[in-house]
Amino acid sequence: MSEQAIAQLIEKTEALQTGHFQLASGLHASRFFRCIKLLRYPQAAEIIFAEIAHRFANENIDYVLGANEAGSILAFEVAKHLGVEVAIACEKSGTYKLIEGFAFPVGARVLVVDDITTTGGTAKQLLAIARQASAEPVGVGLVATKGLFNIDLSCRTEVLISLQGMDAMSPENCTLCQQQIPLTT
Ligand SMILES: [Zn+2]
Repeated sequence: MSEQAIAQLIEKTEALQTGHFQLASGLHASRFFRCIKLLRYPQAAEIIFAEIAHRFANENIDYVLGANEAGSILAFEVAKHLGVEVAIACEKSGTYKLIEGFAFPVGARVLVVDDITTTGGTAKQLLAIARQASAEPVGVGLVATKGLFNIDLSCRTEVLISLQGMDAMSPENCTLCQQQIPLTT
């Protein structure tokens, strides 16, 4: 799989949007990678699931952990490729927790997957869930990175595509806020 193939898929599915966005990190941005737009086409998105699974194929993964809409779909499909169990977390008042019914045995090797990260916040919380269960966080598979911040997740991190022209601004310094452009919903 080439980065170009994913770039084409992103373009075809209009997953990279332009507007005035508030990110999960609280920062504002003029471009937003809406992975769910791409995941509307499971067969086309297959190259993404297969590639993440391929990169961690030799890591003896036991569980694939994801959160939120896009992350849950990614986790489910990557787990299917690896032939292992899936675990899904969701956010409640700022903290991620495993949905009831999912659990990790002690020592389980966990792969975290996510669509994109700005500051690594979600991935860090998901890795923490694994550690709290005395499981072993083995790696993080990300569909895309914005290349804005140096993100150290303290484990093997694989990124399928580095997006160009992405930004992230604190609301106080946001040029779009200064132009009184309303947030895109
Ligand atoms: Zn703004």
